[in-house]
Amino acid sequence: MQKNKFLIVNFHGIGSPMRPLEDGEAHYWISEEQYHRFLDLIAPVKDRVLITFDDGNLSDLEIGAKGLEARELTATFFPLAGRLDEEGSLGSVHLRELLGLGHKIGSHGYDHVSWKHLDDASARRELVDAKARLEDCTGEKITEAAIPFGQYGRSTLERLKFNGYERVFSSDGGGYSGTPYPIPRWSVRADTSQEAVALFLSGRESIVRSLRRSLAKAKKQIL
Ligand SMILES: [Zn+2]
Repeated sequence: MQKNKFLIVNFHGIGSPMRPLEDGEAHYWISEEQYHRFLDLIAPVKDRVLITFDDGNLSDLEIGAKGLEARELTATFFPLAGRLDEEGSLGSVHLRELLGLGHKIGSHGYDHVSWKHLDDASARRELVDAKARLEDCTGEKITEAAIPFGQYGRSTLERLKFNGYERVFSSDGGGYSGTPYPIPRWSVRADTSQEAVALFLSGRESIVRSLRRSLAKAKKQIL
């Protein structure tokens, strides 16, 4: 058993999607009721738990931020630059509203594509153009990124560092201490139970699970 120092819980959509979903995305949408139950578990341990939201769904503001505010919690939101102002997604005005509420904004890239094997043109669009568009919309410097689908290799991390991303978040699960690059997050899904959230927040996981995570992570970084 291992006690972790910091933990990150990552959310995607909440409630009913207001845009067509991508293949396999429905598993990452949770009900409003689940969301509130999960936040109730997070609130008492908020000093060592960070909250993030990926994809920039409108539910981030309408349900997500309201639930956070009610419990005096803050989060970092990672919208997609290419979906800003589209139906069902956050727009520039919403990003500024989130900042005004004390939350942070990072980048999830432009088109929601894997960053594992980016060529130069795609890397520019995903890491440079997306950042510039989000900076224009928010008037703030964007220095954090959340890697789409948690898919990355060594070259992804090198490109992110080169383009000024000071903190980068994966979806490798588990806890962390210090400032790893990327920082692991745990994504809740439609089938995530309250018990699973409580176990994660306890910072304890079996040695087998922890070893499995470490091996998977090591494999990504040598590719
Ligand atoms: Zn995503």
